[in-house]
Amino acid sequence: MGTPETISPPIDKRRIPGLLVLILVFIIALAAVSANAALRRRVQESQQAENSLLRLQMHAYHFSALEWEIIGNPEIYSEIVEDVRNVHYEVDRLIRELEQLDPNSENLRSVRQAHAAYDSAVTEVFGLIAAGDFDQARLVDERQVEPSFNVFSQALESTGATYSAKAKQAESVGDLGTALVLIFTAAAIALLFWRFQKAQVATEVANTEQRALARHRDDFRLLNEMGNRLRTCLTVAEAYDIIANFARPLFPNVSGALYVINTTPGIFESVITWGESQPRLPGSGRELSQDKCWALRRGQMYTSEDSTSHGGLCPYLGQPRPDGYLCVPMLARGETLGVLHLRYSKPPRTSEIQSAEGMVVLKRQLAETVAEHIALALANLRLQEALRYQAIRDPLTGLFNRRYMEETFKRELDRASRRKTTVGVIMLDIDNFKLFNDTFGHAAGDAVLIEVSALLKAHVRGEDIPCRYGGEELLLILLEAQLRDTHRRAEQLRSEIQHLSVQYEGQSLGAITVSLGIASYPEHGATVESLLAAADSALYRAKNEGRNQSVVAQAGGE
Ligand code: GH3
Ligand code: MG
Ligand code: MG
Repeated sequence: MGTPETISPPIDKRRIPGLLVLILVFIIALAAVSANAALRRRVQESQQAENSLLRLQMHAYHFSALEWEIIGNPEIYSEIVEDVRNVHYEVDRLIRELEQLDPNSENLRSVRQAHAAYDSAVTEVFGLIAAGDFDQARLVDERQVEPSFNVFSQALESTGATYSAKAKQAESVGDLGTALVLIFTAAAIALLFWRFQKAQVATEVANTEQRALARHRDDFRLLNEMGNRLRTCLTVAEAYDIIANFARPLFPNVSGALYVINTTPGIFESVITWGESQPRLPGSGRELSQDKCWALRRGQMYTSEDSTSHGGLCPYLGQPRPDGYLCVPMLARGETLGVLHLRYSKPPRTSEIQSAEGMVVLKRQLAETVAEHIALALANLRLQEALRYQAIRDPLTGLFNRRYMEETFKRELDRASRRKTTVGVIMLDIDNFKLFNDTFGHAAGDAVLIEVSALLKAHVRGEDIPCRYGGEELLLILLEAQLRDTHRRAEQLRSEIQHLSVQYEGQSLGAITVSLGIASYPEHGATVESLLAAADSALYRAKNEGRNQSVVAQAGGE
């Protein structure tokens, strides 16, 4: 089996919208991130401003406290005035700092103005204190410093509130941006993951398809090879061997059997089986009756899938029932030659076949093609065998014909002469055969001939040659048989034939006797002609001497 390569899926046009969406999401996320960064800067700036304002307010209070101390205690003036000046410079610096952060702010402008008014009021009070005019200093403080401090303080507060609102706004916009970024990032990741999953599924599908294709190619190659081998077969038995060899690789992980039509009508005999699970058939365990198999009865494929919709499981399947099975009838030239049966009962070992249905679906097409191949090959071989049979056999008795006997006999004599072995010849003639014909009719005579021939066939070993020599004269050539054995076999035959009871149309035809002439190689000749002549002479003598007997040819010829 070929190793299927792993392939990566090609980029197809259907994926472009998905990619565009991905790019868009990326851009939006990027924009959101940079917008968020800007917002964060604004929040920072606002918070810095708010901070500065707080410090400003603190300095302002400190400033105001110092100022009150001076007014209350003129004697510490020189100590404190420097401190007050420092606070004033600090306040000034902070305002400038804020103006740099927010140059166009109306609020800051009013803060600066309020501070300037407050500062000039304080300066005036300091001047009056320095001049020792404390009453006037208190008056100016009440009328100018206090109100201007309140204005300055309010300006600071409202500016702080504005910055605080700004920071809050920026913060919530920032939060929204962060949420958006998170959502888009999550969406992008989900989309990427989904695309990746889809790509993986596509790759898997492509690989599965590739594997299926490779398997189909392998199946096709095997099928082709099996077809070629079957075409070169000479006998049906050879074909069975070949089918048995190809069945396993064609149908791995499943059990199977091939049933082929038998001589008995309606009976199919198992000729090949493979795998562990087999149907338990009655009797010899090999014969399948046509009426037990739905495929044979309907003349079309039957599967376990069909069994759920109609008909049920085939009655011949036996226990335990297979998890899945299919039967394909083998039809050729309008004749049902057999059935191909596939089944499995265990969890299959490969992932390719995952269920009974899986097996059925995967293998049904192949099973159908294989069954077609086998049916055609068997039909051809049967035809060839029939023709060959007809060419060498006598149609009435099924014995070899005379021409075949002469050819084979000659070959066997050559072989015997090379190997220095013996050959026995028995020539047999039914006694008074004409009487059967005359008394019971020609068909009854045929029946006698058929029965005697059947006995002859049953009597011989595989390598012997039983033949119809002509009319009611039969011949038996016994390979590697010595004269004594041949004589004994002839006597055996004679006795058995005598005990035959042939019935024709319910009527007994009476006892049948035969006369036999015996000859043997090398005693009675070295050629077909001389040996047949010797046996014929001996038969003639047996007839002359009263029939129903066997006579051995005289040594050196008659
Ligand atoms: P014998 O004991 O001398 O052999 O007497 P017989 O009657 O057997 O001898 P005969 O040779 O006179 O007759 C043979 C008959 O066999 C003649 C022929 O009609 C008949 N015969 C030959 N072939 C067939 C056949 O295929 N079928 C039938 N029914 N008769 C056949
Ligand atoms: Mg005769
Ligand atoms: Mg005769």
